[in-house]
Amino acid sequence: MSDPIISKLTELFQRFPGIGPRQARRFVYALADQNPKYLKELASSILKINEEISRCRRCFRIFSGKAKYCAVCENPSRDESKLLVLEKDADLENIEKNGIYDGGYFILGGLLSPLKPEKKDKLNLKELKSRINETNSIKEIVLALSATTEGDMTRHFIEEMLSETIKNRGLKITNLGRGLSTGTELEYSDRDTLRHAFENRK
Ligand SMILES: [Zn+2]
Repeated sequence: MSDPIISKLTELFQRFPGIGPRQARRFVYALADQNPKYLKELASSILKINEEISRCRRCFRIFSGKAKYCAVCENPSRDESKLLVLEKDADLENIEKNGIYDGGYFILGGLLSPLKPEKKDKLNLKELKSRINETNSIKEIVLALSATTEGDMTRHFIEEMLSETIKNRGLKITNLGRGLSTGTELEYSDRDTLRHAFENRK
């Protein structure tokens, strides 16, 4: 059986999205081949995440700095009538990098899963509801969730959760056009694909 440190690190790496025990173990072996300088730098950079990165209390994205709100949420020239709901930070980063959207954001922190009902408690669903209830300027909620079973399940849940508010406030709820083919993630889409998906939202 393997060394305790190998088992421990393998277990820790398995917390990364999409990483199983075999890949986690490959990371551990790759680290074992690195020189001490690299390992020190890696370890100290990891520790700094806690000190130098914050999660925005309004949109739930991570950003560097120790402020309460991120730069997008603090920017008065953003269009407050639109709220784009995303699964994860990498999606937001890609959309922001391509400069095709000027409204507000909201990060769900994952998707619902039919096989893992416990995931529901980890998502920022209640927070999404509060954000919409507290922000009267929002007129349109754009759901940009992946075209998968999980994405569909989450979409339906959000529509259900907000149905009262949608009726009472005349809110519009739209979905990104499917220039984003099934399984293609927002995280990897290029500028034209993203722009097309925004223009064709319905
Ligand atoms: Zn923010």
